[in-house]
Amino acid sequence: MSLVLCVDGERWRQHLLETVTALPGVVPVAKGNGYGFGIGRLARRCGWLDEQASVTGSRIDMMAVGTYLELHEAAPRFDGDLLVLTPWRPLGAALDVPETLNPRVIHTVSRLADVGDLLGRAPDARFVLEQLTSMRRHGMTRRDLLAAAEVLAESGLSGLAGVAMHLPLNTASHLGEVTRLINDVVATGLPTRTIFVSHLTPVELAGLRTAYPDFTIRPRIGTDLWLGQRAALKVTATVLDVHAIERGETFGYRGRSMPKGGHILVVSGGTAHGIGLEAPTGDQSLRSRAATIARSGMDVAGFVRSPFSIDGKQRLFAEPPHMQASMLFVPSGARVPDVGEDIEVRVRFTATTFDRVDIR
Ligand SMILES: *Cc1c(COP(=O)(O)O)cnc(C)c1O
Repeated sequence: MSLVLCVDGERWRQHLLETVTALPGVVPVAKGNGYGFGIGRLARRCGWLDEQASVTGSRIDMMAVGTYLELHEAAPRFDGDLLVLTPWRPLGAALDVPETLNPRVIHTVSRLADVGDLLGRAPDARFVLEQLTSMRRHGMTRRDLLAAAEVLAESGLSGLAGVAMHLPLNTASHLGEVTRLINDVVATGLPTRTIFVSHLTPVELAGLRTAYPDFTIRPRIGTDLWLGQRAALKVTATVLDVHAIERGETFGYRGRSMPKGGHILVVSGGTAHGIGLEAPTGDQSLRSRAATIARSGMDVAGFVRSPFSIDGKQRLFAEPPHMQASMLFVPSGARVPDVGEDIEVRVRFTATTFDRVDIR
């Protein structure tokens, strides 16, 4: 009766172990919807990965969450340090971290003003300084880092846990940029030799370690860790109802008339799960219809491609997805699944809320 993430546990765990083995110093990232698994489950898995250190050769002494509000999901399930990826600001949830968590939390500080502000409020705070990269999201310039180094030297405080850089996806090579950034870190004289990076390939990481043997390079990885073995992951929806329908009969929320005969299938999975939010526009002029057809996979009857498939064939939405269910169209001649049968769904794992995660 549900939208389920089915995990081949053996294969998934094997992939996790191989990834951690290949990436010493890895900091697993669990944020947002926990890559479909949920942050709590991934936090427990980080603890399990740490227990496997004799297999992987790597302790998992730190994991990363996205926001301060996510700390309470990870903290009870993982004993190590908790890096918060969203930069610290002197407002909101960043100021409400429970006292008991403070020794385990590592803040990300991305503005010069925040260095003094954070240390003024919490002199024993642990933190990484984020460096501005070509992404231009958050981070400090070389000049800011230099000034931060002076602030730290004057304060005599020693919570600096490293420098962090968040790099764009899929660029040809990050090595030139990372080399420049690390050289900037060296030039500032900051008292750290730990660099947190994201989106580097194993080859790029190995290259960096060779170029900077006195540095500890720590890759922060989510997608390639949790979702890196797609063959271990399958998403299914349950067929909840089946109705034969003739051409011309009405159906759906808007009482639409069926343009051709076949079956309407009601399956679990709707907008609340993040299913099929790219429904067609309401503009039904012939010209825009043709454009929508070309863009979205709408067929001539006005049905739009859905992420659900039956016997390997992707099926069409009979109408835009409802909140927790969707109505699909199965044309005459195709096999009609039974109520209770599971069918496959293609989803974006980071944008889907599953009713259940089955790890077998
Ligand atoms: C999300 C995030 C990561 C992990 O990204 P993936 O592409 O899922 O591996 C790493 N660093 C930062 C700062 C992030 O926000």
